Amino acid sequence: MAACRGCGQKNRDAFKFCGECGASLVAEVSREERKVVTVVFTDLVDFTSKAERIDPEDVRRVLSPYYARVRSELQRFGGTELQKALAFFRSVGANRCVRKGEALLAASA
Ligand SMILES: [Zn+2]
Repeated sequence: MAACRGCGQKNRDAFKFCGECGASLVAEVSREERKVVTVVFTDLVDFTSKAERIDPEDVRRVLSPYYARVRSELQRFGGTELQKALAFFRSVGANRCVRKGEALLAASA
């Protein structure tokens, strides 16, 4: 006999739904999966204060190649870009994460 999680009614094992309240008696399969990821945030030193003093078109002129280079480096190491300057890497070891950070720093210089 399977007890309903909703109302507590005892139901025959072959029943897929509770005879009292209609709730499912079949255990739900969890689709959640825990994964280890590394999140990388990149930024340009003092860029906000510099951007406040230049025209928006110049800000774009500075940022576009920066984002392109960072994106290229992220892809080279198998990262996925979440949004500009924020990315994550799936299940990688510490050494690989350090190499990614170094490559991003070199690309930003
Ligand atoms: Zn029930």
